[in-house]
Amino acid sequence: MGHSAVIIGAGIGGLSTARALTRHGWSVTVVEQAAALPTSGTMLGMWPAAMRALDDIGVDASRRTDGWAHIAAGAGTRLWTPSGRMLMTAPGVADLNLVSRPALLAALARDIDVSFNTQVVDPGRIDDAELVVGADGTFSRTRQRMFGDRFRARSLGAVAWRGTVKGAVAEYGETWAPGALFGITPAGPDATNWYACIRADQTFDGPHLPQLSNHFGSWHRGVRELIDRIEEGAILHHGLFEAPKLPSYTTGRTALVGDAAHAMAPFLGRGACEAIVDGTTLGRSVAQASSVEAGLAAFDKERRARTQRLVLASRLMGRFAMLDAGSGIRNAAVGTAGRLVKPRQRRDPTLPPH
Ligand SMILES: Cc1cc2nc3c(=O)[nH]c(=O)nc-3n(C[C@H](O)[C@H](O)[C@H](O)COP(=O)(O)OP(=O)(O)OC[C@H]3O[C@@H](n4cnc5c(N)ncnc54)[C@H](O)[C@@H]3O)c2cc1C
Repeated sequence: MGHSAVIIGAGIGGLSTARALTRHGWSVTVVEQAAALPTSGTMLGMWPAAMRALDDIGVDASRRTDGWAHIAAGAGTRLWTPSGRMLMTAPGVADLNLVSRPALLAALARDIDVSFNTQVVDPGRIDDAELVVGADGTFSRTRQRMFGDRFRARSLGAVAWRGTVKGAVAEYGETWAPGALFGITPAGPDATNWYACIRADQTFDGPHLPQLSNHFGSWHRGVRELIDRIEEGAILHHGLFEAPKLPSYTTGRTALVGDAAHAMAPFLGRGACEAIVDGTTLGRSVAQASSVEAGLAAFDKERRARTQRLVLASRLMGRFAMLDAGSGIRNAAVGTAGRLVKPRQRRDPTLPPH
């Protein structure tokens, strides 16, 4: 008889794992509490390792279908202060691939059966599978069941707004201020992605445009013009959390992937990428090992230390960007670094010609 797995959660981590296990001959059941996959969402940056992992699980991101965008190496990014003083301009050193969350989820879900409207109340009571995968996100019940309340996600004391507006802008980059940042990135030939973050202990009730104007409306023209194009109904707003450092990503026959294992601050844009790589690694590890237990041990060894370093690095990046005391010294150092470092442009050799 073949191997079987139950995957809790049809997000990027759960669906990547489902594809990987299926390709290795496993039979998978994916259960998802929502009624359907989301049909709206902003763009996610895909790092080269994630692009390779997508290729491994049969998602051809190079076809540039709807929802995918590709920015050639060299498209520059800038760093400003709120008054508009440019601290640094950095040419992109590698091609940048972006995908909208709905397009990525739709591609990952192709040929995968998902049982929607199915909430797992107690992951410990799934007893008819050789492998249980907790892909249930930042507030994972599976993590809580495995390690207890002490390992609940913790607030980073910051909240974010984000969205996409129609049309391109002249310049992309981030603006850093004490306790706040605003970022603008490409989202394809005719769309622009934006995100804004401030330190705050709890989220705000809508409407959100007045909040954005209140916090960022006096910033430089690039930010103000972008805010003028935002539509209230297209704003996403939420608190930022991270997962505590877990002693293991597996116990018994259960494994955690994605945000359930290592929810991280968004400042390095790595969470979704790492969720995809978790999925492909878990599929390969259990397929190649002599037993499920050995496969889970190999998965934990390959993924835990690396992703936990990213959780730390993402948190530190946010602190650095929104520094209070010392931001003047930081700005001077960043400006000097920008003048001294001239990155060599290169194409990512893993990407096809375009
Ligand atoms: C502001 C912001 C910007 C970001 N930008 C980027 C970026 O540019 N690049 C990048 O790589 N990452 C980015 N990320 C991170 C990325 O969005 C996440 O890391 C990624 O979506 C995690 O996927 P996941 O599948 O682990 O979790 P989720 O997407 O949270 O999926 C978990 C799923 O499990 C389901 N579920 C939960 N509990 C149960 C249950 N009990 N029973 C059944 N189903 C359940 C949920 O409904 C959900 O569908 C960003 C994050 C934020 C907040």
